[in-house]
Amino acid sequence: MHERTVTLIPGDGIGPEISEAMQMVVDAAGADIKWETVNAGEATMKEYGTPLPDFVLESIRKNKVAIKGPITTPVGQGFRSVNVALRKELDLYACLRPSFSIRGVETRFKDIDLVVVRENTEDLYAGIERMVDDDTAESIKRITRKASERIARFAFEYAVKNNRKKVTAVHKANIMKFSDGLFLESVRNISTQYPEVEFEDRIVDNMCMQLVIKPQIYDVMVLPNLYGDIVSDLCAGLIGGLGVAAGANIGDDIAVFEAVHGSAPKYADQNRANPTALILSAQLMLLYIGEVEAADKVLKALEDVIVEGKHITYDLGGKAGTKEMAFTIAERIKSYEK
Ligand code: NAD
Repeated sequence: MHERTVTLIPGDGIGPEISEAMQMVVDAAGADIKWETVNAGEATMKEYGTPLPDFVLESIRKNKVAIKGPITTPVGQGFRSVNVALRKELDLYACLRPSFSIRGVETRFKDIDLVVVRENTEDLYAGIERMVDDDTAESIKRITRKASERIARFAFEYAVKNNRKKVTAVHKANIMKFSDGLFLESVRNISTQYPEVEFEDRIVDNMCMQLVIKPQIYDVMVLPNLYGDIVSDLCAGLIGGLGVAAGANIGDDIAVFEAVHGSAPKYADQNRANPTALILSAQLMLLYIGEVEAADKVLKALEDVIVEGKHITYDLGGKAGTKEMAFTIAERIKSYEK
């Protein structure tokens, strides 16, 4: 396999520490990756006057694959979300959030293996809002056939490539007959092109209840933006929370991998943050670029170390620091080769 250059954006807060941990683990797994580190967020805001300099976008466009640490979004003032800007600039229309039970992580739910595919570009998130008068506000929910078919195709392609059996479209078309109706109709149309994958649909409120009662019967879910946002966090909760939730934003030929959690500023520079979510995001990236063997080693070593419980961070019930946990995972990977 040829060496692959990946853009690495360390990010803010705990971002640099967990990025370093992730790099240590991926390098130990023998993935043929050259890291091209460029920063974004608060650090570049100070140096270049923008949280997303052009050279960051250029690096991602060139390398096609990036992994990023969390970036702080100032509330109420300051720069807009870099995450949103990245999605828009690079047309990363699919948010992919796999949630599977991780060996050793304590949770009430067993044998979870779910994948949320969330549409990233429209719905109520398009920001079409206005004040009708001083006491009335309005947001427009725009759904298009083009974006709905595109995300549906992504979900079915993902299902086929990853040997998944079923895709469930999640909606509220009984109430929003036009917008959610169009989404459902679009997914249903695309489903006919994939007869090997089972297709069904669920109303979003029922889906949430069912995910808590019998999550094991679901597989890949495809959702418009708002429901996707909510249901993907619900699924993260089923497997142990944001500290272990991986994700990616993907377009036709560019993918940006990132942990789901934020920059946890109160833990910055303390060597306390849990690197698991970013390591799992890297594992997802390794699968995406075809480094399957390295991806398998990373997951196995991470789970082994969590099960053992001696070198894990506070939030997983341990006392280890970020560095110690990453070092232990890397050493474990190296031990497989002996
Ligand atoms: P957060 O995810 O940073 O923190 C929520 C809680 O989880 C805190 O108690 C935090 O200490 C803990 N936590 C998060 N990640 C952890 C880890 N790896 N190990 C241990 N504990 C961890 O969410 P927040 O406080 O709402 O946001 C902080 C900043 O992050 C904000 O500026 C927000 O805009 C930004 N943010 C960025 C992204 C991203 O870049 N993708 C995502 C969400 C939030």
